[in-house]
Amino acid sequence: MKRLSVLTAFVFFTAAFPLMGQELDATVESYREVANQLIKAGRQGNDSYRKLQELCDDIGHRLSGSKSLEQAIEWAQQSMKEDGQENVHAEKVMVRKWVRGEESCHMLSPREVEIGMLGLGGSVATPPDGVTAEVIVVRDQEELNALPDEAIRGKIVVFNFPMPPYSPTEGSGYGAAVAYRTNGATWAAERGAVAALVRSCTAYSLTTPHTGAMKYSGGPDVKKIPAAAITIEGATLLARLQARGKQPVVRLKMSAQDHGEVPSANVLAEIVGSEKPGEIVVIGGHIDSWDAGTGAQDDGCGCVAAMEALNMIRKAGLKPRRTIRVVLWTNEENGTAGARSYAVRHQAETHVAGIESDAGGFAPQGLSVQMEDDRKEQVAVRQLSQILSLLEPIGSTRVRPGFSGVDVQELNQLGAACMGLEVDGRLYFNTHHTWADTVDKVDPQELTDCTITMAVAAFVIADMPKRLGEE
Ligand SMILES: [Zn+2]
Repeated sequence: MKRLSVLTAFVFFTAAFPLMGQELDATVESYREVANQLIKAGRQGNDSYRKLQELCDDIGHRLSGSKSLEQAIEWAQQSMKEDGQENVHAEKVMVRKWVRGEESCHMLSPREVEIGMLGLGGSVATPPDGVTAEVIVVRDQEELNALPDEAIRGKIVVFNFPMPPYSPTEGSGYGAAVAYRTNGATWAAERGAVAALVRSCTAYSLTTPHTGAMKYSGGPDVKKIPAAAITIEGATLLARLQARGKQPVVRLKMSAQDHGEVPSANVLAEIVGSEKPGEIVVIGGHIDSWDAGTGAQDDGCGCVAAMEALNMIRKAGLKPRRTIRVVLWTNEENGTAGARSYAVRHQAETHVAGIESDAGGFAPQGLSVQMEDDRKEQVAVRQLSQILSLLEPIGSTRVRPGFSGVDVQELNQLGAACMGLEVDGRLYFNTHHTWADTVDKVDPQELTDCTITMAVAAFVIADMPKRLGEE
């Protein structure tokens, strides 16, 4: 029924107003009733928060290679089959299995105290008795480079780089800080250090260590040394002691194991398009998580928002022209094998757009968009600004060119408009990759609005006569 009125409106307005801007305005306007329906229905009740609890409370963390990730992959398929989705299936992806094991960090001198820590994903273990050494605290790479080799050799290097606090205009300071987590062990090992400790990537801490991926990038001559994140409290304590001429000694114990490659999978489900089923609009998040906490904000919310967005569209009886496909990528946290595998396996298909939610299920603000072709990206920004005006009632109207998402950006090379769901990011990095990333941090209403944003944006992009990014 709805299809008819949408089509009629479009035909009328294109004939009357041949100019591109007005033409799109009219097209978008013709979706207002559908958008309002989705907003109303979503806010009256939807399944995203229940799905999140099933995923995070019942199944738990979803580290690559874990039994619980396998359970989550099964659950997601079952759940979307129960929703009545089409072509629900899993696609095998080989992922690296890294297991944390027992671990600890103690300062032994000038007094004995435990330092909150989480080993970094991908790190080697220490010997069973641990690594015990004097520490050398540096703020950043420049300070490390300025030190003579004797000051570093045989020591545990502590990178005390403070992540800048969240700013409404600049966003989080994650990008600046994450380089130390990723590369700190290599930089320290190149200078002869025996282990690396990295101040957690967060601007706020209640003694919460934040894990995350690291990699050894120094080549065969550089020793692989163990690496862990420590709390802000621990890192600043060590820095203060060093500044007052005390020489802290730390013992780091890690028993992490690398089990090589094991099978995992991406999960897919669709509403098949009515007119152009071969043109795909992807919505998704990553189904894996770190092993601390239950990956509620990162990225349980993204997964259930995509799953429930598809469910909302189906329940509303809407059948878009193009296919809307949910993709739940595996292994985003420590390898991105899922995203790379998806892009290769589906490279022959026409991907119009992809929307990834991987910034938490907070109050949505709009979408970021990136396209390989700059001119098309400018067009897409303009079109999306109009499309998101439909989301005025929930305040999710902002469009900005720029980074979309780790998984979805793999679709750039396929010509797709890649988008990231943008949310109020003030709190995200307080619990990111910690034991505290649990369901209680998610507000059901905010998660609902994320789900609605995905549903409305995906439906309009999949249904509008023009391809997003084309004039
Ligand atoms: Zn994530």
